[in-house]
Amino acid sequence: MHCTLYIVPTPIGNLEDITLRAIRVLREVDTVVCEDTRQTIKLLSHLKISKPLISFYTQNQLRRIPQIISMLEAGKNIALVSDCGTPAISDPGYYLIKEALEHNINIVPLPGACALITAIVASGLPTDSFVFLGFLKRKPGKMRKELDAAKQLEKAVIFYESPHRLLKTLEICREVFGDNANVVLARELTKKFEEFIRGSLQKVSDNLQNREILGEFVVLIEPCKLSVGDNDNDEQ
Ligand code: SAM
Repeated sequence: MHCTLYIVPTPIGNLEDITLRAIRVLREVDTVVCEDTRQTIKLLSHLKISKPLISFYTQNQLRRIPQIISMLEAGKNIALVSDCGTPAISDPGYYLIKEALEHNINIVPLPGACALITAIVASGLPTDSFVFLGFLKRKPGKMRKELDAAKQLEKAVIFYESPHRLLKTLEICREVFGDNANVVLARELTKKFEEFIRGSLQKVSDNLQNREILGEFVVLIEPCKLSVGDNDNDEQ
């Protein structure tokens, strides 16, 4: 008797940003699989829900996946959550979901909070089509290559970045997209200090030099208009 693996988004800051359905599923499942149990306990206590938790993160996923699959195969309903937002979006989850599908386990995804979507809709950049790179490669050469490949698509380029790497990453963005390309930094979305920092890459980087960089960021860069010759693969 296989049971269901529910993919349950949780807030990205503001605790009100959780759906009625997510709360009901969290109440009804047998177990919640999460990243940092301390983080999920905070949310569940806020919702007055008490459930057994299983921690699941990159370093223990190989060991955990067979355990979680066995529980599902034994008839347990499980909710997968992450520390924030939609599980499997730049979060552990993908490998569990893939393995569950290979075991013919029913997967039910719930829609909900996601930093990427929250950022793009308020960015003023085209929302019909964009490129999301998750967290960029760390090595500057690989990062440059990754950004350059995304630039060739002439769509808004979006990625997640940590505050302590932001300035260095913006420098590489300037090399790839040029000083005048417009960027939007969506900071601390849904939280008390939510802020959208907009302007050219040069202006935004210069302004950041003069302030402490704190909080969580989504970086969005406007679509690049390539001129003829910028892309050797262009059909003429
Ligand atoms: N699964 C999450 C989602 O659905 O957006 C993303 C998790 S990823 C590990 C965490 C990154 O998402 C952060 O480093 C930051 O770039 C972005 N992020 C999460 N919460 C955010 C917020 N409130 N404001 C801005 N960015 C946020």
